[in-house]
Amino acid sequence: MMHITCDSCGKDLQPGDDPRYVIKIEAFAAHDPGEITEDDLDEDHLEEIGQLLLDMEASGEGPELADARKKFRYDLCHDCHKKFVRDPLGREFIQKFDFSEN
Ligand SMILES: [Zn+2]
Repeated sequence: MMHITCDSCGKDLQPGDDPRYVIKIEAFAAHDPGEITEDDLDEDHLEEIGQLLLDMEASGEGPELADARKKFRYDLCHDCHKKFVRDPLGREFIQKFDFSEN
């Protein structure tokens, strides 16, 4: 039987019994859609880009942005889900924390 706990508070969640919420977060470097123009796509540039990619493969280093894509997946109980959707970035919590520290 699947054993699932809330990733936020650690509460046991019984499948089919307790409501369970899945949070998926994907973070990646944004690309400006205007970055590549038609001029960039003519053959000369494609060759340059291809050569660039080959160079990067040869040196064993990927493009800097390759590591920038991160995916997160969390299971949350009903209460934690409610808190999450109210304040997905935890800003409320951080502010409270700052204020209480005097
Ligand atoms: Zn929880």
